[in-house]
Amino acid sequence: MTAVQLPGNPVIEAGQLVSTSPATGAEAGRLPVASELDVRQAVERAREAGVWWAGLGFTGRRERLLRWRALLAKRIEQLAELVHAEGGKPVADAIVEIVTAIEHVDWAARNAGRVLGPRRVRSRLILAEFSGHLEYQPYGVVGVIGPWNYPVFTPIGSVAYALAAGNAVVLKPSEYTPAVGQWLVDSFAEVVGEQPVFTAVHGLGDVGAALCRSGVNKLAFTGSTATARKVMAACAETLTPVLIEAGGKDAMIVDSDADLDAAAEACVWGGMTNAGQTCIGIERVYAVDPIFDAFVDKVVARAGRLTVGPEGADIGPITMPSQVDVIRRHIDDAVSSGGRAVLGGPGAVQPPYVHPTVLVDVPEDSAAVREETFGPTLTINRVRDADEAVTRANALPYGLGGSVFGRRRAVAIARRLRSGMASVNSTLTFAGMSTLPFGGVGDSGFGRIHGEDGLREFGRAKAITRRRARSLLPSMTFERTPTDVDRLVKAVKMMYGR
Ligand code: NDP
Repeated sequence: MTAVQLPGNPVIEAGQLVSTSPATGAEAGRLPVASELDVRQAVERAREAGVWWAGLGFTGRRERLLRWRALLAKRIEQLAELVHAEGGKPVADAIVEIVTAIEHVDWAARNAGRVLGPRRVRSRLILAEFSGHLEYQPYGVVGVIGPWNYPVFTPIGSVAYALAAGNAVVLKPSEYTPAVGQWLVDSFAEVVGEQPVFTAVHGLGDVGAALCRSGVNKLAFTGSTATARKVMAACAETLTPVLIEAGGKDAMIVDSDADLDAAAEACVWGGMTNAGQTCIGIERVYAVDPIFDAFVDKVVARAGRLTVGPEGADIGPITMPSQVDVIRRHIDDAVSSGGRAVLGGPGAVQPPYVHPTVLVDVPEDSAAVREETFGPTLTINRVRDADEAVTRANALPYGLGGSVFGRRRAVAIARRLRSGMASVNSTLTFAGMSTLPFGGVGDSGFGRIHGEDGLREFGRAKAITRRRARSLLPSMTFERTPTDVDRLVKAVKMMYGR
């Protein structure tokens, strides 16, 4: 339990989890805390509901998911206000988050049948007398554990795809944003009221741990790398498969032929939207020597114009009060180890706010370069050329997303980034493209949400062969004769032995 009663820190009162605004301390949500038994029962109810939901088929689910999408779109302002009230996120940022989530619901609903539905698969000469059939069947109940920083977009990245694939879902929202999680569940129940297909359980980390051990058939986790390790360990006890979307320390590379105004604009957005509390946020920048000074000036000019405050500002409060200490430590460490603050700096940390901070010449081994900061801060370091930039960008255990600005070499550089995703001449945009998979490598996790891979993540491949004719070269039978085996050897030599 969070010990310090700062605005934004959730508290438990009489068995209820109470979330508060990090800016004002005003209560945002009050929800019953689930016991271990409650979690198990929620999963059992979901199991039954899942059978009904799977039975609707792709068409029935598509129609209902599209109705849910319409409800989300109609109530976008209401949901954005709640995201703002509970997490402190500026309303405009919340709108962008929800728009992206709605797009994912739409795409998952429309494409699940095509991607996961039964289809014939070509046979090969060796088994030409058989036809192949493939389909992706639902797991049953998928447990989803989500973070607070994108309390709509992040769970929906798993929830919409898992539902479209025919699973029931039990969501454990972050203790910092339970009301947003419950809002999603309640709005879904307005469209699908017959069975508890999508429900939530609330509480602290122990409720998440209980969900891992509750008998869910798959667990989709989004959160920190440290918690991901605990989730995997718990799921290992029952061989429950997991999908891990963990933290990042994404780099941006600015090459010599980049449009510097566009690069600076995207850099400030990618690093400071949502006060920098973005898993795929730009945290480190490597700019090549010839354009370094001009680029830094442009970033400082733009970031210096951003407003900070509770209402109507570009940058809101830090959602999780304890994160302020991490941000302060990173800034202090960067400055004391030889880095320079060209905007903000140690004085920029004014809880619950952190003002935009741009640090240059920061040693590559400092915490500000190596660890997830999750604040409106950027380190910008000078590199000789794009090759050095790639080497430095790839030097961390994290590998979530990344960005490259440039013309001639930009796509080639993006391909060399050790990450699951990259944006060329933009930042963060891959997250909104529902046709593309989303996920990381290394400490950033494994498995994919979004796109076709994201749908397949929530379906078990079911492979069927069907005999179409008698076998000319019978081999998989004790009825085979020595002549059959001789013929088989000759055929194999003819087909593969050249
Ligand atoms: P945490 O890892 O602290 O928490 C994530 C979720 O796990 C919360 O719901 C939390 O519950 C729950 N949890 C905590 N302990 C356990 C446990 N032992 N077993 C099971 N579940 C548990 O992450 P944050 O909420 O702080 O989110 C920020 C992190 O998420 C950052 O590292 C960020 O990069 C990452 N992230 C990754 C994304 C991606 O797609 N790759 C997207 C968004 C964020 P509770 O809140 O109650 O403690």
